[in-house]
Amino acid sequence: MPASILEGKPLADRIRAELAAEVAQMSAPPRLVALMAGEDAAARAYAKMQAKACRGVGIDYELRELDPALSQDELLAEIAAANEDPAVNGIILQLPLPEGLDEAAAQRALDPAKDVDGVHPVNLGLVAEGEPLLAPCTAQAVVALIEESGAQLRGAEVVVVGRSVIVGKPAALMLLDRGATVTVCRSTTRDLAFHTSRAEVLVVAIGRAKMIRGDQIRPGAVVIDVGMNWMDGGYVGDVAFDEVVQVAGAITPVPGGVGPVTVTMLLRNTVEAAKRQRA
Ligand code: NDP
Repeated sequence: MPASILEGKPLADRIRAELAAEVAQMSAPPRLVALMAGEDAAARAYAKMQAKACRGVGIDYELRELDPALSQDELLAEIAAANEDPAVNGIILQLPLPEGLDEAAAQRALDPAKDVDGVHPVNLGLVAEGEPLLAPCTAQAVVALIEESGAQLRGAEVVVVGRSVIVGKPAALMLLDRGATVTVCRSTTRDLAFHTSRAEVLVVAIGRAKMIRGDQIRPGAVVIDVGMNWMDGGYVGDVAFDEVVQVAGAITPVPGGVGPVTVTMLLRNTVEAAKRQRA
């Protein structure tokens, strides 16, 4: 029997409805500022998606387009201004930054209380401590989709492929905190299929189209495909969907799986940040 499809939209819609109700009760809408310095088509498309999602729940969204030729000091001044503005509750730094700018330094300059992308070391450290406040949105989406599938994480064999700071590592830590036994694989992993094929829950965040094949999956596994790879005029995941759907118990589609939930977690972080700042 083919796997059930774990669509992101029903979960995203449910959370967004709760957020909209919460925002409606607030004295003023939360305000999210996105700083965009580079001219990148994907970043622009993502900003458009953020703006629409924010409108949907009543969050004020402002895209601040910065001079692509700005210096590191000028970028840091923009971040400081947003940090200090009490009307701004959340700040996102749209990536990639133009060549020559230091991304990590810019992320460290964010006020952790306004870092709704969850990229500041303080927020990542809180995830490591098991006390997340503003956790990275994609990692939150991964956990939420697994929980939505009904999979029991306590005692489960979970394999995460990819160890990026915003996806693989925080997702692995958050799953560990839910009682799973977590293995994290990366490009240096000697026998990837050995690990993936024993996973009851498999999270794939590599960035390589259709890399994980049907014969690398444990029958009945829950498969969360984070990958977004542009191929032949559309997006495909890191998992060979047509094959894996025949073996897995549940699988997220690409697009339409992790993506809509990730944007929703950005909204949730923004509402949470505003609530804490106003408390
Ligand atoms: P990164 O490029 O930062 O990390 C990729 C990871 O994959 C690295 O840890 C790398 O290993 C590992 N890797 C690369 N090749 C292999 C291999 N052959 N075998 C095993 N592991 C391998 O990627 P991100 O985490 O930022 O993104 C991953 C994917 O998720 C991308 O397609 C991205 O577009 C997508 N994405 C989707 C989001 C969404 O909301 N849907 C949000 C964020 C990302 P090593 O560390 O050894 O180099």
